[in-house]
Amino acid sequence: MAVPSAVPEPAPRYRGRFAPSPTGPLHFGSLVAAVGSYLDARTQGGEWLLRMEDVDRPRNVPGAAEQIVNTLEAYGFAWDGPVLWQSERDAAYEAALDALRRAGLAYPCACSRKEIADSARRPAVDGGLAYPGTCREGLPPGRPERAWRLRVDGSDTAFVDRLQGRLAQSLERDVGDFVLRRADGLFAYQLAVVVDDAAQGITDIVRGADLLASTPRQIWLQQCLGYPTPRYAHLPVAANAAGEKLSKQTLAPALAADCAAGELVRALCFLGQAVPAELARARPADVWAWGLEHWSFAAIPRQRSISLPA
Ligand code: GLU
Repeated sequence: MAVPSAVPEPAPRYRGRFAPSPTGPLHFGSLVAAVGSYLDARTQGGEWLLRMEDVDRPRNVPGAAEQIVNTLEAYGFAWDGPVLWQSERDAAYEAALDALRRAGLAYPCACSRKEIADSARRPAVDGGLAYPGTCREGLPPGRPERAWRLRVDGSDTAFVDRLQGRLAQSLERDVGDFVLRRADGLFAYQLAVVVDDAAQGITDIVRGADLLASTPRQIWLQQCLGYPTPRYAHLPVAANAAGEKLSKQTLAPALAADCAAGELVRALCFLGQAVPAELARARPADVWAWGLEHWSFAAIPRQRSISLPA
């Protein structure tokens, strides 16, 4: 009998990432995403990269990025390679936008917010209004370009999330042609995140379920740019007793550098892990040793949001 001569392709390595925006210090909600993505990567022998999503300059808070890096270090996270800073990546985003322009997929748009508000007919998934396509066939005469948008279509963009199951969106109905470069000249988060995930070879995205509704836009962009689509797992987001996502707006407290073990234990409990409570009084390294040995992806609650007790 012939011995198969073809050497099987090695499975692509797992490469995960954590991608905070420096709009404030890390809080418990961001810690949950960091812990979930870190342990999912490390327990599969994967790499874990850190990316600072500081593309939206007006929202960056001075000093927040450095504070995030220091907190991650104090909590015992170890990332592979240097931190990637989106604020240094304009050339890569411009090249992607150029490719989309050349393919006829991106077009300039003259609409102001008010014009969109006056002409849009449908709400969008993220609370705004679905773009009605006013500039799709060209800029109205005499109007200068403000933003650049990506054409979408009415078919379903669908994916199966490892935690939340199947999600499908008609981008035309639920979002409309969406912005790649904003009227203020800054690249949109959707473009930056997709270009960076591809450039860093990310195979697995584990992040909060507040980003579920953006995922079909990111998958559409990956398809337009010829990039592979990573696997996705959207973790439940931590909400306050009123059901609002923990964030700077809901005044979530910053993580304290000297409570690392306790906060890590809380994050593991939130993710359904049966972590012994006494580890909260141990060293962060002991919590990580426990997490690396006992991490159970199957135990993570398949919910989009979980309220913390008041
Ligand atoms: N920068 C985004 C945030 O802080 C996360 C993006 C992502 O993980 O894809 O909400």
